[in-house]
Amino acid sequence: MTVITRFPPSPTGMMHIGTARTALFNWLYAKHTGGKMLFRIEDTDRKRHNEDAVGALIRALEWLELDYDGEIVSQFEQQARHREVAEELLGKNAAYKCYCSAEELEEMRTAAKAAGKPTFYDRRWRDASAQEIDKMGDKPFVVRIKAPLEGVSTVPDLVQGDVTVANDHLDDFILLRSDGSPTYMLSVVVDDHDMGVTHVLRGDDHLNNTFRQNIIYDAMGWDKPEYGHVPLILGPDGAKMSKRHGAASVEEYREMGYLPEAMRNYLLRLGWGHGDAEIISTAEAIEWFDFKGIGKSPSRFDFAKLESINAHYMKASEGQRLIDLSLPFYETRHGIRPDKIAQARILAACDELKDRAKTLLQFADESVFFAKKVPFEYDDKAAPLLADKAVLQMLRDRLSALEGFKAEDIQNICKDVAADLMDGKMGKVGMPLRAALTGTTNSPSIFHAAEILGKEETCARIDAAIAFQG
Ligand code: GLU
Repeated sequence: MTVITRFPPSPTGMMHIGTARTALFNWLYAKHTGGKMLFRIEDTDRKRHNEDAVGALIRALEWLELDYDGEIVSQFEQQARHREVAEELLGKNAAYKCYCSAEELEEMRTAAKAAGKPTFYDRRWRDASAQEIDKMGDKPFVVRIKAPLEGVSTVPDLVQGDVTVANDHLDDFILLRSDGSPTYMLSVVVDDHDMGVTHVLRGDDHLNNTFRQNIIYDAMGWDKPEYGHVPLILGPDGAKMSKRHGAASVEEYREMGYLPEAMRNYLLRLGWGHGDAEIISTAEAIEWFDFKGIGKSPSRFDFAKLESINAHYMKASEGQRLIDLSLPFYETRHGIRPDKIAQARILAACDELKDRAKTLLQFADESVFFAKKVPFEYDDKAAPLLADKAVLQMLRDRLSALEGFKAEDIQNICKDVAADLMDGKMGKVGMPLRAALTGTTNSPSIFHAAEILGKEETCARIDAAIAFQG
């Protein structure tokens, strides 16, 4: 049997990280078993539908580097098929037409609430005779499923184990609305069946739906998929992860400068484990992924851990890739697009930059000075460091006479200047040099940075700093 998983998000305008984790788990299980992951957009809510929201899902999946098999399926486009199955269920007497008015339903709701019943609809049309139905003529109706009235239903869940409910908790839910549109409950079953889905791995907020959906499988005589319901992701405070916790969507993590492989590794560990492995390559994840490793209780989002995993992947990444991925950040944060020369400088400083930066954003912030052109601005901390022009002038004179321009020699010159002017206090020379070369007070080794900038550029920057009147 070929395993077929599916990723069926609703287009809400963004991809929630919980949805991303579901995608990852389905993708890993498909890869692990040599199966397929299908991608279906659950786009039946036409009032809220827009193509941009679909685009956001596709972009998020692409960014996470999770591919899918076949074409994207639109649930909305399968409506005729969903209606056909509803007709078939009516024909089998497994479903029925219900002509209750809104007022009647409201009365039932109030009565059920007062009586403390788990469901409210009193099934008054369930056993209506053909004559009673005929009498209604072309009045609007909904189609409801005939849910079992007695006994219990069990879902053998691959994550939670057997989960059982009493059938009196299951209502005769609606399959077709009075305008003929199919409900989610019907559509999802028909689509999963028609797409040959063998494994449904989704959030445990869908567990209640599973009992209802299984009624349709049984009524149609279809094989049910295997189910695995994954506990939700909670914020650091234990409430369901939402905007309030910082970032809840994949796009926001991208904008915060996280790498896709780090995000995958982090999301994988958030709810799945393999011994005490923390850093798990995609190849290992594919090899190891199984249902057994999925935790039964919800996990809390831990930003510090995500950052440390990201730092690991930053170090492991090729320098040029980090530069390429950081290009949008140089632009959005500093209005600078590093040219070829700047990129070569950044690449030369990459080992040091990678050790310091936990995200691409920090990487861009700490290396953007390589791309600056004199004269540039000095930040509030850097500007006051440029007040002592004698230090800068002596540095400028000695550096311009230096042959070779190596970090070690530059450092020695700073030492000499410190000895001559600043009682040997190296910081009193190093800090102004850093301010002059970077416009900030934060950078990797300034001697190495000067070497990379080269004599001409270093001297030009010191000249600009000497000319600067704060
Ligand atoms: N469209 C549903 C959602 O985004 C998923 C349905 C399912 O997994 O069956 O929550």
